[in-house]
Amino acid sequence: MATAGKPMALLVLADKPENPQVIKYAADEFQRVIQKATGVKIAAIPERQLNRQLHPDLARIFLGPCEATRQAGVDARRLPANGYLIRSGTRRLFLCGKDGGTDHPRNYHVDMGTLFAVYEFLERQVGVRWLWPGDLGEFVPRQQHVVSGVWKTRSLPRLMQRYWRFEASLHHGRQAWSSEASVYNYKLGVYKWLRRHRFMRRHNLDYAEAFRDYWKRFGETRPELFNLLPNGKRQPDGGRSQHVSMCVSEPELWKQVVVDWRANRTAKLPWVNCKPNDTPGKCVCRRCLDWDVRTDTAAATAAARKAFVAENRDGWSWPGHLGSLSDRYAKYLLAVQREAGQFDKNATVISYAYANYSRPPTATVLNNRVVIALASSLFFPYTDETSREFRSDWKGWSATGARLVFRPNITLGSHNMPVHYARRVGADIQHAFRHGVLATDLDSLTGMWATQGPSLYVVARTQLPVDKTVDEILDEYYGAFGPAKAAVKQYFDFWERVTEPVTRKRWQTIVNRYQRQDPDGLNFRTFYKAAHEIYTPEVMNQGRRLLQVAAERASGEETASRRVGFLAKGLRDAQLTLETQEAFRGYRKTGKRSGFDAAARRLRAFRHSLEKDYVVNLSYVSFQENMTWGGRD
Ligand SMILES: [Zn+2]
Repeated sequence: MATAGKPMALLVLADKPENPQVIKYAADEFQRVIQKATGVKIAAIPERQLNRQLHPDLARIFLGPCEATRQAGVDARRLPANGYLIRSGTRRLFLCGKDGGTDHPRNYHVDMGTLFAVYEFLERQVGVRWLWPGDLGEFVPRQQHVVSGVWKTRSLPRLMQRYWRFEASLHHGRQAWSSEASVYNYKLGVYKWLRRHRFMRRHNLDYAEAFRDYWKRFGETRPELFNLLPNGKRQPDGGRSQHVSMCVSEPELWKQVVVDWRANRTAKLPWVNCKPNDTPGKCVCRRCLDWDVRTDTAAATAAARKAFVAENRDGWSWPGHLGSLSDRYAKYLLAVQREAGQFDKNATVISYAYANYSRPPTATVLNNRVVIALASSLFFPYTDETSREFRSDWKGWSATGARLVFRPNITLGSHNMPVHYARRVGADIQHAFRHGVLATDLDSLTGMWATQGPSLYVVARTQLPVDKTVDEILDEYYGAFGPAKAAVKQYFDFWERVTEPVTRKRWQTIVNRYQRQDPDGLNFRTFYKAAHEIYTPEVMNQGRRLLQVAAERASGEETASRRVGFLAKGLRDAQLTLETQEAFRGYRKTGKRSGFDAAARRLRAFRHSLEKDYVVNLSYVSFQENMTWGGRD
């Protein structure tokens, strides 16, 4: 393809591609990476010019379905969207996929099989690794020769969607970015990174909660649809009507769900949406309780009633006394499926496993026309206990016969602090994928690339059929740091050890303490308020020392040095965040705000210097921090 600084191949583009933007983008990606690897730019021409070209010495790389693929019998037409073929022959290579749509491949809904073929080729044959967005995060090993290798690959998409929510972490607007252009550039870099890791949405699973507007629609006329609370009333708990839970054993509810489905279903969203609102199951009517599996209903309801009366009304704790409601919710899904089956015998229902119906049902068998998005367990702190629980939930739900969507929240945790849960999350994802997965939907990519990079990299890589252990995937990441490889590994291993003593129990004790002291409490959004309990000055010093070692090792190599520098910026950002929160605590205590103002200024100035670097997502961090630091004087 390229040897001793000379191009040995020509890139040939389809004349009439399904989606010309996919082919153009795929060619750009291909050319850029080959040039980084060899210093050689491979020329690209449309197929119709091929005969007029006099390049007898050049091998040909055909991008996308074209005349040459037809003649060679490399047929992507019958592949599903995003599927692709890679074939090599005598002085020819075909990178040929099922493309479609009319949009740029930075958008999820575009079909981009040819681009994915290019990425697989570049990863396996050239050794490119996309650690984080932007140029510095792209690792391309330098080489004298790149050859095409021998290929006979047919890749079909395993998942309906491979999705990592990202928009939500930017929807807070410009926040700490100094211009819209900076936000745009950041966003563009992240979309490119996601595509390089083959995130795509052949079908989307954008079913919102099904009952958000039910109280508005039926609150006055049809109370029987709603939960019976321990106070004997059928109404929203705590007044937030979009979070009301339903009386899921009520036949009129099943009928209404099916009426809604028949009125609203589309070719893109064909399933019966049964997703409960964002709250635990709360109905204590006789019929719902009889659907549950538990040993002592009288004791459970008495405890729930007592907690209901005592609770300040967030509505999350008292239903826990009812135990697992998963059998109740599983029976509800079967009932809706039966109801919908009168109109379409293949009707598929979709719902969540969540809150007090996260655990697998113990007595109810489901079927493959039930889709469950499993949102349980995976969150900070990510401990052995977390992993065990997740795996047993996944296995249990899988055993019911339902099809599963991997929908964890783990990447929402820890704010911008250094965490390293890569080995746990990698092993858990591989475990889940071994037991069958229909789609993924991760909430959310907040984008703390410099302090959490290896974990994010592993989350992306383990969703692909890369056939590597998690340690081997991590080795790819650390390998990009050249002579500092071992030192960078030690640095991240240190962060793994730092959070090790934070058991769920210990973390809950901290959360409870903040709940008592602080009217706003502590949750994943305001993690930075308690971060100093884990990230003590000694811990942060040790982190800096380890990074210093890495910097010394990398000092002879420019790119490796800059990559270590990137990690150091993340650590500095975390340090300044800790200092600002400490100053804020001082201000709350004394009423004097000059120290806090100075610390906040330092943080702001530092972040201004990071705008082009992908170190942190400035929208996300500043929005969450301003919930505490902003608007108070
Ligand atoms: Zn009920």
